Amino acid sequence: MSKASKRHGELVGEIRKLDRAYYEEAAPLVSDLEYDALYRELVELEGAHPELRTADSPSQRVGGAPLAHFRSVAHALPMQSLDNTYSATELEAFVDRVQRALEGEKLSFVIEPKIDGVAVSVRYERGKLVQGLTRGDGQKGDDITANLRTIRQLPLEIAHEAEVLEVRGEVYYPRAAFDKLNQQREAAGEATFANPRNAAAGTLKQLDSRLVAKRPLAIVLYGPGKLKGVACASQQEWLKLIKVAGLPVPEKFWFCHTKAELLNAVEELDVERRGFAYATDGAVVKLNEWRLRNALGTTSKAPRWAIAYKYSAEKAVTTLEGVTFQVGRTGVITPVAELKPVLLAGSTVARATLHNFEEIKRKDIRIGDHVNVEKAGEVIPAVLGAVTEARTGKEKAIEAPEACPACATALIWDGIFLRCPNPSCPAQTQRRLQHFAQRGAMDIDGMGDVLVEQLVASNLVKDPADLYQLTLEQLSGLERMAEKSARNVLAGIEASKQGDLWRLIFGLGILHVGAGSARALANHFGSLEKLAAATQEELLAIHDIGEVVAESIVTWFASEENQELLRRLREAGVDRQAQKVKAAAGGKEIAGKTFVLTGTLSEPREDVKERIIAAGGKVAGSVSKKTDYVVAGENAGSKLADAERLGVRVLTETAFAELAEK
Ligand code: NAD
Repeated sequence: MSKASKRHGELVGEIRKLDRAYYEEAAPLVSDLEYDALYRELVELEGAHPELRTADSPSQRVGGAPLAHFRSVAHALPMQSLDNTYSATELEAFVDRVQRALEGEKLSFVIEPKIDGVAVSVRYERGKLVQGLTRGDGQKGDDITANLRTIRQLPLEIAHEAEVLEVRGEVYYPRAAFDKLNQQREAAGEATFANPRNAAAGTLKQLDSRLVAKRPLAIVLYGPGKLKGVACASQQEWLKLIKVAGLPVPEKFWFCHTKAELLNAVEELDVERRGFAYATDGAVVKLNEWRLRNALGTTSKAPRWAIAYKYSAEKAVTTLEGVTFQVGRTGVITPVAELKPVLLAGSTVARATLHNFEEIKRKDIRIGDHVNVEKAGEVIPAVLGAVTEARTGKEKAIEAPEACPACATALIWDGIFLRCPNPSCPAQTQRRLQHFAQRGAMDIDGMGDVLVEQLVASNLVKDPADLYQLTLEQLSGLERMAEKSARNVLAGIEASKQGDLWRLIFGLGILHVGAGSARALANHFGSLEKLAAATQEELLAIHDIGEVVAESIVTWFASEENQELLRRLREAGVDRQAQKVKAAAGGKEIAGKTFVLTGTLSEPREDVKERIIAAGGKVAGSVSKKTDYVVAGENAGSKLADAERLGVRVLTETAFAELAEK
């Protein structure tokens, strides 16, 4: 076998593996930059040795395969990828190439943001949404119509009567909600998403569209698919046409003729994109006129009339000064890179997660190395790898610790994770207590992370039940704690006994039970005793609870230690929460009804929405004749006017609460 053919085989194998992780598992193994470098090497190698380019090479196919659980449907027209570049010179070369192929034609281009979401194709027939597909392998996609219907921005009906109007775009996870999602997942002991695109992809893969409805997915549309009965000749006209039809389009795009205008637009977009609701990773440059597009045609993978210019993620090189080991709530040890502080994407980065020891080994990272650190928009800073050329020989290998840094117990391997098996480990205790007391859980006023640390260090508290035994003397005996503050903390602890049941369930820190599942459990069971006695089957009957969560709950309540904790909490008066279940658990009047929320509500809108969905209702984004109720808070605006115009019933918050109790 020749050297080229050997390398080709390696590249194909590696890219296929990365594609699987990225498209099918929504969990990328490397950064896009690393992926794109391998991909480019493959394309160049095949350029020099065309005999290596087989029809199934990753260079010839759109990544991703249909998922087993969804119905697979053929696209009326293939959904393609885009060629991409990170270089302005190559962008200019693209324009020259197009101009040469279309000699004598006056060219114009549209520049759009490259939305970092999940590509979908939505089909309307005579104005009605009939089907939504993922890109899949480009020829066939997954039928995710039910999931797409839950996206509030996507109209079920559009103002265009064409026999067929297919429109393509991206489903995205709004940047503002992304951080919150990751915090929630972390709190529930679940893996966080690397970036908003993975979060959107992971969400769309849910088989249960009710779960999808709970995530704030959004959509933006920009491209045509199969069209029948649509008169349109250019991208500019198309964007206008679909916008008028009621579809969400990119909030900003540029129209250019010359290379200079085009480069300028790409630069402007790089500034503007920071304010967009979605994450972007580049600019898409498209030939405007459809007649000319058809003349150019496509390759098997991408159109010849468009190119993506990718903005590189900000990167920096710094020194890995050391590695510390963090002990999580469940005992998992996470290696953390301690970096020489470096300015990256607008903030100083001094620490970055190294994920796990497998990752360190794969990347061969050593203490003292110069390392490449990357931060792309909302992505958590990551160590890409070591600059091996800069090694002096003094670098030290990163050894997995043998004992827990907090309690010195011998650590054990649990798959690729290293775990501290000691349930009384002070670091785990501290994290569990911090989780219990945090605002999103029991919301104990005055019980911040530092106080928890002090309480654990001074041996006053070992578990949440101990908090309820604290005395004024004990608290005011702590360093920097005045008597007045101690009294406030005690009042905070006392008040927490009165919170909602879901807060207690969430605060217990059961693996995989996030705030959303905790609410569903509270609504369903109404008391901790009933939840504790629930079987796996009973849990599975609740539509928000899947198998993994159900199993985790049963295991948690089966533990003698946890039963003892619950007994002590009850003794301390914490189970009074049982009576405080939200009345919405009834919700007979909500089931099957469509609500629109508007104005400022006294509860977070997401909570109200969740309550409606939990009771079997729907929440829509805009008022139509199909809306049953509009819930109007303070300063309600146009939606209230729409409701009045259409004769839809308007409820105040109080009226809504009454309705929910029925
Ligand atoms: P892509 O995401 O780079 O670009 C093509 C896609 O962009 C289109 O299919 C479309 O869905 C989307 N798009 C967004 N805004 C658009 C707009 N305004 N107009 C037209 N299209 C728009 O390509 P891809 O085929 O989806 O994925 C390949 C890329 O994914 C690689 O270049 C790499 O960066 C990344 N990837 C990374 C890994 C990894 O392991 N990190 C693995 C596989 C792929």
